[in-house]
Amino acid sequence: MIETNRLDRGFYRYQKEFEDKALEVLRSGWYILGQEVSSFEEEFASYMGSGYCVGLASGLDALILAFRALGIGKGDEVIVQGNTYIASVMGITINGASPVFVEPDEYYNIDASKIEEKITEKTKAVLVVHLYGQASDMGRITEICKKHGLRLVEDCAQSHGSCFNGKKTGTFSDVGCFSFYPSKNMGAFGDAGAVITDDKDIAENIRVLRNYGSEKRYHNKAVGMNSRLDEIQAGFLRIRLKHLNELNDEKKEIASVYDREIKNDLITLPEIREHCEHIYHQYVIRTEKRDVLKEYLEKNGIKTIIHYPIPPHLSEAYRYLGKEKGSLPITEGYADEVLSIPMYNGLLREEQERVTEVLNEYKGSV
Ligand SMILES: *Cc1c(COP(=O)(O)O)cnc(C)c1O
Repeated sequence: MIETNRLDRGFYRYQKEFEDKALEVLRSGWYILGQEVSSFEEEFASYMGSGYCVGLASGLDALILAFRALGIGKGDEVIVQGNTYIASVMGITINGASPVFVEPDEYYNIDASKIEEKITEKTKAVLVVHLYGQASDMGRITEICKKHGLRLVEDCAQSHGSCFNGKKTGTFSDVGCFSFYPSKNMGAFGDAGAVITDDKDIAENIRVLRNYGSEKRYHNKAVGMNSRLDEIQAGFLRIRLKHLNELNDEKKEIASVYDREIKNDLITLPEIREHCEHIYHQYVIRTEKRDVLKEYLEKNGIKTIIHYPIPPHLSEAYRYLGKEKGSLPITEGYADEVLSIPMYNGLLREEQERVTEVLNEYKGSV
């Protein structure tokens, strides 16, 4: 069976480094917000080319704190693409703000040409998601935000190190939000997240909010949360960061095998927009009878996942928004047709060939 992911392979590749770091932290006697966290924050900010990084407990927390630090909440609207992971939307709504959905383009990212028609008096920000690892059309989007005086936030949970025009995603906006969930391109061995920003005040604000709103112990200046980053995860992330370019390159190499070798008229392969780098957090194909293809692959020993079968506006959690089925036809069409095929560090050449071969033999039935 070829699995959808094999996180163990990512561990064994750098086993010695991870094990040494684990022992070092365990023996240090300091486990939360210490030297590993501050070193990681410095190294991640420097890799990204950003002024500041604040380590957090998850990607969702990064989004929640980004909007909170920007003062976006009740009565405000935030523009976001319809076809994203639901956490992007939760980052907006947990603050009391409302999501305004925009359809994606053929690259699965927000269609920049459809943003302006959604701007109202209440619009305060655009949340860009670099979905599946491909950078969004940041040239157009930054221009629109500037023209209308909107804040810009980036959800980089799937785009660690991916660039637009040679500049890293996360550095185009007021705040770049990252998740280091184990299966992301840069994954911890547990939950972790971070924000990056060039704004010193925003960084300071989020740094205080992540620790009960306290700047100095027992002096709480805001109702914050507990979103601290563990030393051991920060230590592991420093190792992953050191290898991030080679990890991304390996995934790009696998993608180039798929691009070159998958040839089936029933299947649409992912494409890359000019200037938009893709680091293939997922390699997402599309086909009309997606569930049939999924079953066919499974029968042939290949597991796949759907990112994502239910778009946020149709999920039970967001029924209160009152969005009907049919309100976002492109988003909903993708939810019915997309399929993520095996794409991970350590996917063997013979496994890549098996995936290709089985896909090429697919004739539209199980
Ligand atoms: C993973 C992910 C998140 C949430 O990150 P967590 O660390 O799981 O909270 C947010 N947005 C997107 C696009 C993601 O893929």
